[in-house]
Amino acid sequence: MPDQSHGHPDGGRAGQTALIEMIDVDKEFANGTVAVRDMSLVINKGEFVSFLGPSGCGKSTALKMISGLLSVSNGSITVNGHLAGQSPDASDIGYVFQEANLLPWATVFENVYLPLKLRGLSRKEASARVEEALAMVGLAKFAKSYPRQLSGGMRMRVSIARAMVTKPKLLLMDEPFAALDEMTRAKLNDDVLQLWESQGLTVIFVTHSVFESVYLSSRVVVMAARPGRVVHDIALGDGYPRNAAYRMTAAYTESCRLVSNALEGTMDHVDLNH
Ligand code: ADP
Repeated sequence: MPDQSHGHPDGGRAGQTALIEMIDVDKEFANGTVAVRDMSLVINKGEFVSFLGPSGCGKSTALKMISGLLSVSNGSITVNGHLAGQSPDASDIGYVFQEANLLPWATVFENVYLPLKLRGLSRKEASARVEEALAMVGLAKFAKSYPRQLSGGMRMRVSIARAMVTKPKLLLMDEPFAALDEMTRAKLNDDVLQLWESQGLTVIFVTHSVFESVYLSSRVVVMAARPGRVVHDIALGDGYPRNAAYRMTAAYTESCRLVSNALEGTMDHVDLNH
């Protein structure tokens, strides 16, 4: 009997319906760098997956290939049954980068409205959705503010609202909170979990923080560099909801230890031939 009180009863893998299928994916850049090699992964609808690994192990490249921003060199990626980048509805995917990347001369409203404006919606048609997206991230009262008037954490919330305004099913987040202080980061972690649950999202979250990956995810994909590849795929048994109390549990500490050991072990996997 599923837990009716919770959107993701078993930590996100309840549906067991594949959303993303990566099969034998390679990415070699023109300069010969093999950023990703032989990556195969199935991500189900509703999962919260982290890509964890040191700088340069291909996390961003993998995310960009899933979104269609970068092409694959070999292999294939499908998202919701369509080859990556070829979905008839580009709104299916939201993307959040490490930098908030807001237009400094435009208000918060205008920044969040932008993706809908690019799809041809008038301000009037879009305004309810923009307001809804701002409410989702707790910024309903800041529609008229300018980015310079906001803190780093608030700017990142605007960036998340902008990604959510098209109502994506898949949210790709590339080290979104790396530049924020720890308190703000913890708060935003909770906000992302809340969005994930309330919106029924699938999230892929790139980070190099073991703690962040464990706190958020139902599954941690550990990657290693040179060449970038998957070395561990760890399903975390800890349930949801997760909150400040979870950080104090033995289960959290144990999961951090498990993931940390896997990450340390990545150094043993360096293939010196590449
Ligand atoms: P991560 O996100 O894990 O830090 P990246 O995916 O950004 O790693 O990069 C993986 C590897 O590919 C790195 O060695 C990086 O220098 C290289 N790389 C990334 N983008 C390019 C590019 N456009 N051209 C050449 N090499 C690149």
